[in-house]
Amino acid sequence: MIRYSLICADGHEFESWFASGDAYDTLEKQGHLSCVVCGSSKVEKSLMAPAIARKGNREAKLHDAPEPVGDGGEALKAAKELAAFMEKVRTHVESNAEYVGENFADEARAIHNKEAEIRQIYGEATLEEARDLIEDGVAVAPIPVRRRKSN
Ligand SMILES: [Zn+2]
Repeated sequence: MIRYSLICADGHEFESWFASGDAYDTLEKQGHLSCVVCGSSKVEKSLMAPAIARKGNREAKLHDAPEPVGDGGEALKAAKELAAFMEKVRTHVESNAEYVGENFADEARAIHNKEAEIRQIYGEATLEEARDLIEDGVAVAPIPVRRRKSN
């Protein structure tokens, strides 16, 4: 016995059992198939829902055709989300802090020592400057750098 998903010309979908694939073909050619909903004899196998050997098909697919995207797609999605998040961080810093350019290390230290007005600042610092600041207990954090087209 074979179960087929069938669909009529009006789009009614239903399932029906046949003795074999050949039996189905014979019945179809002779016009003996009819829609269980509207009785239309214009019935064919539904391409949307293959009902036979579904389990077998799935196993074969796993062995013969591993998904080419899978992890790659997930990784790309994660990278895009991270990039979007970093952009948000940068935008937040830019709109809430004062840009002090290459004076960042001096300015951050001055604020830390209460020699300058206490405020949020951001700017450029070398890795060495940043390390010194952190060692001195100055609260600094790296922010993502916007990609530059030149330079
Ligand atoms: Zn129908």
